[in-house]
Amino acid sequence: MADMTVGIDLDLTLRDINTALVDVYLRKYPEHKDKVVPISNWNVYSFTPYFPIGRAIQNFFADNPDEINSISKPFYGAKDFMKELSQIAKVSIVTFQINDKWKEVSLKWLQENDISFHEIIFLKDKTKFEGKFLLDDCIHTLKAVRLKGNSTPVCRDYPWNQQWDGLRIKHYDEFLNIVRNNLALEQINN
Ligand SMILES: [Mg+2]
Repeated sequence: MADMTVGIDLDLTLRDINTALVDVYLRKYPEHKDKVVPISNWNVYSFTPYFPIGRAIQNFFADNPDEINSISKPFYGAKDFMKELSQIAKVSIVTFQINDKWKEVSLKWLQENDISFHEIIFLKDKTKFEGKFLLDDCIHTLKAVRLKGNSTPVCRDYPWNQQWDGLRIKHYDEFLNIVRNNLALEQINN
């Protein structure tokens, strides 16, 4: 394996946590069925504006890790992507989880869904991650990482991060190509 470390965000990059949150929420509050804002219309990173219970959604999320995690699905192609990526680079899952229980179930989720990786790093401040690339969907993270310079941020395309003007991928294959091209470049230069 080549000597290149890449960081991969977990939530909304590999794990479809939002769909699961809405599902679990509607199990508890079926009367809110038509009041939750459809995910396609979400455009920021706080859950608060999209649920009738408002700010209480944050505690709802923090307090229901088992239920939300267990029904979270990997995005289409995520497993194959991580398998292939792990064969060509050292892969760090770089993720912020709000409490210890969420850290625990997130690790379980990766194992149960057979996601390949070499290490997991729980970081609130992802600018601390040192590697070649960092794949993430959050525009605030991408901007901060670029500013700090410890890795090159790559955006996982979503309607709400269109203002990002750096590297962007719509499909996992494109990230594999970015990594492969860089590995080839490094070989030429060495
Ligand atoms: Mg994310």
